[in-house]
Amino acid sequence: MGISEFALIERYFRHCGVKRSDVRLGIGDDAAVLDCPPDAELVATVDTLVAGVHFPIGSPAASIGHRALAVNLSDLAAMGARPAWALLSLTMPSAEEDWLGEFASGLSALARTHGVALVGGNTTSGPLCISVQLLGHVPRSAALLRTGGKPDDVLFVSGTPGDSAAGLALEQGQLTAASHAAKYLRERFLFPTPRVALGERLRKFASACIDVSDGLLGDAAKLAQASGCGARIEFESIPVSESLVETLGNETARTLALTGGEDYELCFSVPAPSVGKLRQELPPEQWGYRSIGVLRAEAGVHVMAADATVMDFSHSGFHHFGP
Ligand code: ADP
Ligand code: MG
Repeated sequence: MGISEFALIERYFRHCGVKRSDVRLGIGDDAAVLDCPPDAELVATVDTLVAGVHFPIGSPAASIGHRALAVNLSDLAAMGARPAWALLSLTMPSAEEDWLGEFASGLSALARTHGVALVGGNTTSGPLCISVQLLGHVPRSAALLRTGGKPDDVLFVSGTPGDSAAGLALEQGQLTAASHAAKYLRERFLFPTPRVALGERLRKFASACIDVSDGLLGDAAKLAQASGCGARIEFESIPVSESLVETLGNETARTLALTGGEDYELCFSVPAPSVGKLRQELPPEQWGYRSIGVLRAEAGVHVMAADATVMDFSHSGFHHFGP
């Protein structure tokens, strides 16, 4: 304890992220004053992380700072938006300077990576809870929505989903892995990579897009449903990391990739005639995405096994790690 609220804001948050010329007035007054580009639309999101619910109690403070911003960056990525300004609402039991320093550096490092300025916030005492609001922009009418998919559009996912869920299970002592795999998987949970640059590029190609925060299967179903479609996903084409396969085996790894959560990858659909151009302009091996299936006219999402039978995923992969 000890440090005053004013000193705390000055020391840890005044210079968090980048300095932007479109911030007319940042931290220090009653509210921030921001200069919106005239030809753009504002895209806004907010997400809250509660200790013990969205991250284990005792998680590294740098990871909490990183994730609090990452979850919001991922939402803007899914809209094809460019992030600009963040606000931080921080509730914590006491002002521990070591913790604050690490939290702010985790937040600030990711903010700098994406050109985001922290322009305001609120500090209160109570059970640890972090809420970040993120504002960004897209050119007028260009935002990527969940609703634009059509039957026969090809469905893609970025990255290697499932890693983060396995990393969380490792953090919680519910799973064990070889040390190099454990290190990699933990890192994927603690410091996820929001696909902001990919989201922006996808404006040109994708018919619909969603970020994968609640599990690929459920989020692909949300995209399909919002687009008035169903989907077919090929189980064997789901991208999984070597570490995940090594730890869980092929089938459980892909099951976790479908049902895990907190991946912060992008799931998107592209009209079949545009797929060649997509692959040409955004080489998949460079941008890290892969086709996993197609949208179809019939409602519902079917996951197809290699032998073309429909697989059943009625329950969460977390049951694999149950006691
Ligand atoms: P008010 O009471 O008018 O809301 P505060 O005294 O709470 O103002 O905050 C002073 C300034 O510090 C404001 O600009 C506010 O946005 C900013 N601020 C407060 N807490 C934080 C925080 N955790 N991170 C970033 N900015 C903050
Ligand atoms: Mg005020």
